[in-house]
Amino acid sequence: MTKVKHITAQIEELCPLTYAEDFDNVGLLVGDDMQTVTGVLVALDCLESTVDEAIEHQCNLIVSFHPIIFKGLKKLNGKNYVERAVIKAIKNDIAIYAMHTALDNSFKGVSAKMGEMLDLQNTQVLMPQKGHLRKLTTYAPENAAEEIRTALFEAGAGHIGNYSHCSFNLQGEGTYLGNEHSEPAIGDKGKLETVGENFISVIFEKHLEPKILQALDDTHPYDEVAYDIVGLENVHDRIGMGVIGELKQALSPHNFFESLKRTFDLKTIRHSEISKTEIKKVAVLGGSGSFAIEQAINSGADIYITADLKYHDFYRAEGKLILADIGHYESEQFTKNLLVEYLTKKITNFAPALPKSRIILAKNNTNPINYF
Ligand SMILES: [Zn+2]
Repeated sequence: MTKVKHITAQIEELCPLTYAEDFDNVGLLVGDDMQTVTGVLVALDCLESTVDEAIEHQCNLIVSFHPIIFKGLKKLNGKNYVERAVIKAIKNDIAIYAMHTALDNSFKGVSAKMGEMLDLQNTQVLMPQKGHLRKLTTYAPENAAEEIRTALFEAGAGHIGNYSHCSFNLQGEGTYLGNEHSEPAIGDKGKLETVGENFISVIFEKHLEPKILQALDDTHPYDEVAYDIVGLENVHDRIGMGVIGELKQALSPHNFFESLKRTFDLKTIRHSEISKTEIKKVAVLGGSGSFAIEQAINSGADIYITADLKYHDFYRAEGKLILADIGHYESEQFTKNLLVEYLTKKITNFAPALPKSRIILAKNNTNPINYF
């Protein structure tokens, strides 16, 4: 039977929770990860009306992009919309899972979906992040080195951009002297040994660490495996907020705005002065994106499409690009489709007990902002 944890594990392949920002609250917010799933409702927000929709469709797992519990809960009296949604979910045995900034920081996430809707080409992450990479170095007897390397690669180590199976290797000599409790794979306890060893070094994304250490432990012949792991300051060019890419053909700002309005079904676009005669390079960031205005300018974008810009933010364009605020909900609206498409594609591999038709896109509009 398909459990909640089977579904969330698939989501975490798309956006590991270690991608989430520190301020965020992501993962399984409500419910039991061993519960058998009857259906998955995918929504942008988990309001009381979303829980109602889950009940209506007999779904007992809500995958919500925004976390309904964000700052913490001290009381559960049903006095506000957060408490009411959580109470209703618990009463009806409905689990709630949120990934929020983990999906924002995924190169296949929120902003990538915006870029896809705009048919952007040659896309890259707008604000690549540091802190996601680690390096493992281990020392293995020569006859075991190949098997260990292979196991590390299979666990996900050794990926650099378009390359896989990346490692650095040296031959050297290791020494050890085992005490009476030791079980040396080579040599004898109580005797100083010198053994030809390979130094193997690979990088990996930090969320893979348990898997990689397990692979090392399973394949290394020594009873005590020597290794070190260090955190790297390298920027990971596939993890971070926002996406930048190019239109196939440059458009006039007027025509671009027309197509933007159509694609995102916008009532209005708030924008800074039209300081460009044509739009070719486009930066996008779903949700509140004022923090990335400078990066968008530095990336050479003609326009930066995001949401929640304040009055003074629009001055920051400085005539170097056009800032366009299309609305928070509007910018993120296709995230639900992305998740439904992703889970529907994955489901045959992991959950034959759950038919594809049980992955359901929420219809209920959770946008709190209305236009007159
Ligand atoms: Zn958002």
